[in-house]
Amino acid sequence: MSILVVGSVAFDSIETPHGAVDHCLGGAATHFSLAASYFTPVRVIAVVGEDFTAQHEAVLTKRGVDTQGIERAKGLSFHWTGSYEGNMDEAKTLGTDLNVFQTFEPKIPDAYADSKFLFLANIDPALQARVRSQMPQVRMVCGDTMNYWIADHSENLAKVLRDLDVLLINDGEVRMLADERNLVLAAEKVLSMGPKTLVVKHGEYGATAFFSDRSFGNGTKISRPFRAPALPLAEVVDPTGAGDSFAGGFYGYLASQPELTPAVFRTAMFYGGVMGSFAVERFGTERLQSVTREEIEERFNLFKEISHLEGA
Ligand code: AMP
Repeated sequence: MSILVVGSVAFDSIETPHGAVDHCLGGAATHFSLAASYFTPVRVIAVVGEDFTAQHEAVLTKRGVDTQGIERAKGLSFHWTGSYEGNMDEAKTLGTDLNVFQTFEPKIPDAYADSKFLFLANIDPALQARVRSQMPQVRMVCGDTMNYWIADHSENLAKVLRDLDVLLINDGEVRMLADERNLVLAAEKVLSMGPKTLVVKHGEYGATAFFSDRSFGNGTKISRPFRAPALPLAEVVDPTGAGDSFAGGFYGYLASQPELTPAVFRTAMFYGGVMGSFAVERFGTERLQSVTREEIEERFNLFKEISHLEGA
């Protein structure tokens, strides 16, 4: 089943204790698409500027990602500048140049109209809402956001949240959105804003899903959260895109399954962790361009192994 994703396709300038890169291909929709492409077909809606070349596009098309929804506009592509220090647990945003995204009017190609899974990757919630309203027939909508939009675009964000099946954000963003320090209380508050299920990413410590009575359609109710691990890695080169890669693995796996059951949901959380763990091994999108299905399965089994308790 195809996923349609709207989000940033960008250039990133990143500095980490392992080095620096200038204007490497990035953006939430890019990382998401590459990660999800290992599980299911992906279609992208975004806008890029004149600095986006055929080689940049080939990064996506080589993975089978459908790029006909990427509009080319006069001007420069979205550019994000960020740095990480110490244990690299938090990105420090040094610059966000929206550029061509500032005047973007998303148009959905006819060939995308039958997409059943919609992913609203991190971008202006007004754009997320516009794409959502043009896709009334989708089966599932999953969305992401970040502090930048929570702080200054809360009204538009509230409209997007009302209509989400799954909201996928990190723990700092959950606390900020709910204005509540305790994660469990914050999660309850965020679920009351609309999302049926909340998946909270904890960076190098894994992810937790919080369910509501509306999470599964067939009367299935899960009262406890579910925690999936992250793989302790000896070397993290660049955490940029880890969250989007988690989302890509998670949603790509969900979309590849015939039915949404609690077991499918839990497995999807593991695949999310697997794709996030690959993303951080190299700068930008490098690792996600070259990973193989075999490596993904091998790491999935490792994830199961490190979190399995036998005989207790
Ligand atoms: P993450 O997975 O959270 O590390 O997301 C990293 C990606 O988000 C980078 O490739 C950036 O280009 C992109 N990004 C950063 N800030 C924004 C923003 N305000 N809106 C949309 N995308 C962003």
